[in-house]
Amino acid sequence: MPNPSDNPRVLLIDDSIDVHRLLKVRLRHEQIRLVDALNARDGLELAKKEPPATILLDLDMPDTDGFEVLRALKEDSTTNSIPVIVLSAMSSSEDKVTAFDLGATDYVTKPFDLAELRARLRAALRLDQLLHLLADRANVDGLTGLGNRAHFNKRWAEKVAECRRHPMPLALAMCDVDHFKRVNDTYGHPAGDEVLQGVAKMLQSECREIDVACRYGGEEFALIMPATSTPDALVVAERVREALMRVIWPRHPEHQITMSIGLVGSSGGIGEATAANWLEQADRNLYSAKRDGRNRVVSSELDSSVRWTSRASDAPSADSQAKAA
Ligand code: GH3
Ligand code: MG
Ligand code: MG
Repeated sequence: MPNPSDNPRVLLIDDSIDVHRLLKVRLRHEQIRLVDALNARDGLELAKKEPPATILLDLDMPDTDGFEVLRALKEDSTTNSIPVIVLSAMSSSEDKVTAFDLGATDYVTKPFDLAELRARLRAALRLDQLLHLLADRANVDGLTGLGNRAHFNKRWAEKVAECRRHPMPLALAMCDVDHFKRVNDTYGHPAGDEVLQGVAKMLQSECREIDVACRYGGEEFALIMPATSTPDALVVAERVREALMRVIWPRHPEHQITMSIGLVGSSGGIGEATAANWLEQADRNLYSAKRDGRNRVVSSELDSSVRWTSRASDAPSADSQAKAA
């Protein structure tokens, strides 16, 4: 049985109680939940608090008119992609053009042709679904199905911000496949792709539901472990490293794949550390793991006192200084 509370929410912003009554009755067979706002202020507040799937917006309201509401909706990043169908008794083409220029998706003239309104509403809901699908796709890595770097950046910033507000343990592991180039060179690119897919699958099966595994780029993966102390995260990282060693690869059963892991965790307060310099500390540990012989985990407690500078963006490397000289 479909659950009606899963139906998309449609926000109706109109100062006329009669319109609310009429649409409540006439849209009752649609798979939607109608939410009412009788003025612009309430409408905007509701739209921001819990963004609906579509907004039906009256243009002629006493205090703030619909054009103003439309402008405000489109200026706010939480509401700017919600499809808006403008409702109005005015039917001059100038108003329609203004509404479309302000970002309206569609326009229905009062008195309503209800069959037409229903059809246009369904089209707007389909548009909303497609937009969500696209937004989701933009965060998924096509090869492995894990979150991509954009997704990681968002989630990592969120987790660090949460940790700053409410101190609790948090750990980040950066994992890089060892000598991956050799896999491509020896067995071909498709074999390399299969390894990356296998690593992603292994990561997902070894970590918990609340952990976030992402493909950071190339053959590098990031694992965010919320509410996990550094020693506990080290246990997970070792488990991941060992699980990968045990995988038998169908295309090259004789060739074991390993990875190096740089781990940095915090047991509570994160002090001066930002999402970026925490990541950089994990990167340094990863670099140490590579330098010390690969197929190992290097772990440390977050250094929250120092503002680390990015090697890539801030400090010129010894190499580039030498070239400039
Ligand atoms: P190290 O142990 O120092 O990490 O050595 P490595 O060979 O793993 O690292 P390196 O950065 O030299 O090479 C990474 C290679 O990964 C080079 C690049 O062509 C390959 N690669 C990046 N993305 C993909 C991908 O999507 N598929 C495949 N097959 N290869 C990829
Ligand atoms: Mg590598
Ligand atoms: Mg690499």
